[in-house]
Amino acid sequence: MSEFLPFSRPTIDEATIASVVETLRSGWITSGPKVQEFEKQLSEHFGGRPVRTFNSGTCTMEIALRIAGIGHGDEVITTPISWVATANVILEVGATPVFADVDPVTRNIDLDKVEAAITPRTKAIIPVYLAGKPVDMDHLYKIAARHKLRVVEDAAQAIGSTWQGKPIGSFGDFVSFSFQANKNITTSEGGCLVLNNAEEAALAEKYRLQGVTRSGYDGIEVDVLGGKFNMTDIAAAIGLGQFAQLNVITAQRRKLARHYFATLGKDFEAQTGAQLPPADFENTNWHLFQIVLPERITRADFMARMKDKSIGIGYHYAPIHLFKLYRALGFKEGMFPIAERVGRQIVSLPMFAAMNESDVERTCVAMCEVLKN
Ligand SMILES: *Cc1c(COP(=O)(O)O)cnc(C)c1O
Repeated sequence: MSEFLPFSRPTIDEATIASVVETLRSGWITSGPKVQEFEKQLSEHFGGRPVRTFNSGTCTMEIALRIAGIGHGDEVITTPISWVATANVILEVGATPVFADVDPVTRNIDLDKVEAAITPRTKAIIPVYLAGKPVDMDHLYKIAARHKLRVVEDAAQAIGSTWQGKPIGSFGDFVSFSFQANKNITTSEGGCLVLNNAEEAALAEKYRLQGVTRSGYDGIEVDVLGGKFNMTDIAAAIGLGQFAQLNVITAQRRKLARHYFATLGKDFEAQTGAQLPPADFENTNWHLFQIVLPERITRADFMARMKDKSIGIGYHYAPIHLFKLYRALGFKEGMFPIAERVGRQIVSLPMFAAMNESDVERTCVAMCEVLKN
């Protein structure tokens, strides 16, 4: 029996570990110089736009909605196929989540359905770039401009992804990234928000630290209700080490994705009834390599049989509108049929930068055995 291959695993190099140790010994372990340096480097990557770091990706989206003044009575349109955080933040600020069904090929929110879901109360769109694949960004921002909507991009999975040669985050409205442990680069837990201007950045700083502003030498003032969302220097030390590897990590993931396609061959879909992801090597950072299983095998059965072959399979994601919390708001089966089918049958194959091509081959052989018998 070969060694267990997980679906994801972070790679932290020795230089990063040394930097964390140095931070621990420095006497400054909460937000400090490492956070400032990390924000500076991120801002350079995002074309000089203001960037602030936080202790999760989730809170960055909640804070973006607060900065935009979105709350009770406002509607925010998002996708049912995401981590539940994406919709929870809409509820957190007191607004109303509205879902639009997904595109069966990209599994991202269908922008025509977004436009159809807009009402006079719609204030924002939260698109998700599943597996790191962006939506059609030109189309997204045309809709936003036409209906005067804010956009909070849930780019949690999309660091290193691009659109027409520009990094995701280097243009657009609010752009949110996660550095949770499974993401392409990690701070163990953490996130960052790309903002539009200095005023928004100042508000983001307030919301991340109890609403506190420092006003001159005579003390502090509090004028908005903030929370406790700051990133520590320990996390930022990990982030700096990871960020230095971003291009290497993205290139390796793209290489592995190409190898999946090459190994499975062009007849894989016809022979198994499974559906591969779009073969996008230009924009996607390949955060995940996801296939949609044929209906004749259940996801649970597939995952168990792959586990028997020492291969870990991930599940991203159960449709959000079918969770109890959302059913209680009136959502039910049949409302978003494509999301429901995709959400039932989607699986994530092993994909992480420390994997090699033989891991891909092993996964493909195991998967073909399971799907063809
Ligand atoms: C990881 C993730 C989040 C949440 O990020 P955290 O850092 O775990 O809070 C939100 N949306 C998507 C699509 C994600 O993948």
